[in-house]
Amino acid sequence: MSTPTTTMSEPVRLAADILLDEQLDASEGWTNLAECRQYNGDDWYAERGDMLATARAKRICGGCEVVTQCLAYALDRHEPHGVWGGLTAAQRTRLLRAQRKAVASAGERDTSRAAS
Ligand code: SF4
Repeated sequence: MSTPTTTMSEPVRLAADILLDEQLDASEGWTNLAECRQYNGDDWYAERGDMLATARAKRICGGCEVVTQCLAYALDRHEPHGVWGGLTAAQRTRLLRAQRKAVASAGERDTSRAAS
């Protein structure tokens, strides 16, 4: 179990708790298997730059049996906060950007093949 070592302000901590509750109340079966249910949400919604807390959350995500479902859920909803599926919001944004770029490249290749 993760021991909170962050010094989050009360509003940030409350927001983190609410966001984690929303995350876990996603009404999808996989949330019942979420490893993070055993922890408070501080590490998943740590203050920007708190690399230790983020690393703790990501390590727990790494051992979570529903990491794929969690990441897919967050990507699908463009979840802007927290660690989901082992990735931070910034990492998910980069992943979505890379996916869009790959799809656009594939479309361009198909178009040029069809034209030739
Ligand atoms: S991958 Fe991480 S955030 Fe997602 S359900 Fe598992 S422990 Fe929670």
